[in-house]
Amino acid sequence: MNFCAPGAVFIFALALSAGTAAAPVDQNAGTQDIDRSIRPGDDFYRYANGTWLRTATIPAGQPSYDTRAILVERTSQRVRELIQEAAAAHAVRGSIAQKVGDYYASIMDEAAIEAKGLTPLAAEMAQIAAITNKALLAAYLGSTLNSEVDGLTGNADHIFGVWVNQSFDDSKHCVFHLLQGGLGMPDRDDYLDPSPKMAELRAQYKTHIAAILKLSGIPDAETRAARVLALEIQIAQAHAPDADAADVFKQNNPWKRADFNVKAPGMDWGAYFTAGGVAGQSEFIVWQPSAVTGTSALVGRESIDVWKDYLTLHVIEHYANILPKAVAAEHFAFYGTVLSGAQQRPDRSKEAIVATNAALGQAVGQLYTRRYFPPDAKAKAQAMVGNLIIAYRARIANLTWMSPQTKEKALAKLAALRIGLGYPDTWIDYTTLDVVRGDAFGNMRRAEALNRSRNLAKLTQPADPDEWRIDPQIVGAVIVFSPNTETFSAGILQPPFFDSQGDDAWNYGSAGAGIAHEISHSFDELGNIYDGQGRLGNWWTAEDLAKYHAAAERVAAQFDGYCPLSGVCINGKQVLSENIADLAGLLVAHDAYVLSLKGKTDVVINGLSGEQRFFLAFAQRWRRAQTEEALRRQIATDHHAPGEYRSDTVRNVDAWYKAYEVSPGDKLYLKPEDRVGLW
Ligand SMILES: [Zn+2]
Repeated sequence: MNFCAPGAVFIFALALSAGTAAAPVDQNAGTQDIDRSIRPGDDFYRYANGTWLRTATIPAGQPSYDTRAILVERTSQRVRELIQEAAAAHAVRGSIAQKVGDYYASIMDEAAIEAKGLTPLAAEMAQIAAITNKALLAAYLGSTLNSEVDGLTGNADHIFGVWVNQSFDDSKHCVFHLLQGGLGMPDRDDYLDPSPKMAELRAQYKTHIAAILKLSGIPDAETRAARVLALEIQIAQAHAPDADAADVFKQNNPWKRADFNVKAPGMDWGAYFTAGGVAGQSEFIVWQPSAVTGTSALVGRESIDVWKDYLTLHVIEHYANILPKAVAAEHFAFYGTVLSGAQQRPDRSKEAIVATNAALGQAVGQLYTRRYFPPDAKAKAQAMVGNLIIAYRARIANLTWMSPQTKEKALAKLAALRIGLGYPDTWIDYTTLDVVRGDAFGNMRRAEALNRSRNLAKLTQPADPDEWRIDPQIVGAVIVFSPNTETFSAGILQPPFFDSQGDDAWNYGSAGAGIAHEISHSFDELGNIYDGQGRLGNWWTAEDLAKYHAAAERVAAQFDGYCPLSGVCINGKQVLSENIADLAGLLVAHDAYVLSLKGKTDVVINGLSGEQRFFLAFAQRWRRAQTEEALRRQIATDHHAPGEYRSDTVRNVDAWYKAYEVSPGDKLYLKPEDRVGLW
């Protein structure tokens, strides 16, 4: 799990990638991957995965290969086919397929893009050219106030971004969260780190700025590039340091409209907010006050000409991929090669697929789920999650470390938790979006405008906890604490994790344990600062915390004992919260699996009982082929233990001993009193 910003946590939301054909994966293949020469009680991970581990090949240049990578490949290929089919179909005007197909086809039409040159930008360039005073500058900046950011991404594309979401204190209404932005390079440190390596990066960025300005026909590009870089360095100085950006209590800064004039002089805020379409907005949550104050001062202090060059640069960068080749190539030379190390620009069709997904995510999602995640798959996943919730309710009620009053709050939070599965019940309405084949630029502008007005409209609507924050065709899931919601996409709910036509034992051991893991975060040290309505405020008592930590020490100690490489051991504290979540997930998923049987006896499939398949699926969930270097890096830096030890979580579950007849003398055997668990 990555911590991008509190209040919202992205879990393995992997972007769609390559789109090369992937080997088929299904649950039946799972039993073929077993290495029967290994006793399950001695090494459950290699018993479950031995055959797969012997044959898996890490793709060249990659540090590892695992089920998620396979699913991303498979799903990317499917999405590619769906989009290209839509483009070839010339579907009826106004339909989802027409919009998706024409959006893609327009980006693929490089001849049309080349022929237009920079003329699509003419209106925007004229607006920038017409800036002759600070009020006009503020108005133009306001018109760039975008809604491409959310609580998951910290750095807006323009000087500020807006995220419309419920407030930290009021779950009923959406408020205007204002986030810092405006940097061309991704990190504040890229601008401020004095090391020679970063100084070199800045020199390369300056060269790139000059190249873009030159392409736009601006004279004296080198001198101007230096001034633009100097401006961005000052913006970076105003940005909140990473540590502050990660502390939600530092982000919850309610400002009234009048506060901007007092706390952040320099900008003509009236002009700014009017141009941004939010003239009547009175309440704001300012996530990084220093950035608002600092950037506003720069608007007041720096010359209009420097700002105009800065704006010219950023408008070209923003649309670079749908501008002529010379611009797109220069954009890639810096963002692809210098910043990301990619030597070659990806195939045009890949860029077009990424752009189509970005603009029409839920339209592509509709095409995807129609074919790959029908309503019965959703119903099956919902039934499983229903059992997980019942199991959690019982486990929370029986906790020994949580006080009765805290349990009451935890149970209320559980009851309020919204879990989205597969795809949203209500899709984004693209009816008013006009997508015209041959107009790549206009299509992107209109898609952005729709996104922006859709977001601003939320300011006057009740907060919707069921809003989807991940596209169904992404292989991933999102936990959002505010509101109290978790979402698992159709892309992650596919074999071998979940098969709507498949075996319950397998589904509960794999996807079930995964979903239950994520649910546990709503109730642990991550989620304990948000209540059932997603309002900020710690609901654990000091005594709960102390008892939790005391119990957690035994989990940390167990993992301290694992040493994958000679002299290299797991740091139990570093991976503790994820291991506790794994334990919770496994225990709850097993309870839920038993519930799903409704008293019926197990069936044997491929020679394995349901109990055996449940634990096998869990162990296979964690398999990964990785280089030794990647393993060392993971041990040193990751909050997740290597897959082998996550799989070994089974040692703490009594039912595993029974399922595989594990007994004293087996290497993984733990005496009952040495088995740990917090949930
Ligand atoms: Zn986790």
